[in-house]
Amino acid sequence: MKFNNTISKMKVKFNNPVDYFFDFGENSFLLNDYLNKTIKFSWHNKVKCICGKIFKEFYRQSFCYNCYWNSPQASPSIFKPELSKAHLGEEDRDLEWEKKYQLQNHVVYLSISSGLKVGVTRESDFITRWIDQGAQKAVILAKTPNRYLAGKIEYHLKKNHNVPDRTNWRKMLQNQVSEHDLLNEKEVLKKCFSQDMLEYFCKENKVIKIKYPVLKFPLKVKSLSLSKTPFVEGRLLGIKGQYLLLDEDRVFNVRKHEGFIVDLEL
Ligand SMILES: [Zn+2]
Repeated sequence: MKFNNTISKMKVKFNNPVDYFFDFGENSFLLNDYLNKTIKFSWHNKVKCICGKIFKEFYRQSFCYNCYWNSPQASPSIFKPELSKAHLGEEDRDLEWEKKYQLQNHVVYLSISSGLKVGVTRESDFITRWIDQGAQKAVILAKTPNRYLAGKIEYHLKKNHNVPDRTNWRKMLQNQVSEHDLLNEKEVLKKCFSQDMLEYFCKENKVIKIKYPVLKFPLKVKSLSLSKTPFVEGRLLGIKGQYLLLDEDRVFNVRKHEGFIVDLEL
């Protein structure tokens, strides 16, 4: 069957293993059912920005020029939570949007996707975030009432205590994951919390383990990009993070292709 629509990031359901849904217009495909089957994308030089306009290509990331410089969704505080200002009532790009997004409970977490890392996300969907990053396991380190405070704790841990905040996505996809005792690491990091941060430290010690639907991990990682290769066809060998693992060690980052208008054949 052939469908034409815009790619959006895969929806996930925390199951053992994770269920991945590819929402494509009116259709939603449970991709786990397509393991070991052929999947095909064809791109015809059209992308759709969050503003609804259609372009030949994006300016940067998944944004047109105007959205990249003006949309609250492309604001620097999205990537650097410590820059959040809505808690002060200060507008960055759109105060109403920023209030909704930033002034809600957030968590600082410790996870292992390739190695140990720290991160920040909304409390309402933290497991989704962990799955999107391909985490093997994770634990909540702190809970805060807004994004700024979570960002401040994360920034403190990476700046003053050298805790990484990045995933080595190649290692994550190859399943080359270093082993850590998360509860042990959490105790160690507690000592790094400054006095004003301690009240947010999360006493609950629940380590969540995540399994992904993968038949075979790639030995090398060859990253596919529709801008360079507009036609992609391959056997689906697994799904991890927001990546489709195809045959011949090829990987397709679904999130990176958000907004691409494609023909999909399943
Ligand atoms: Zn736009």
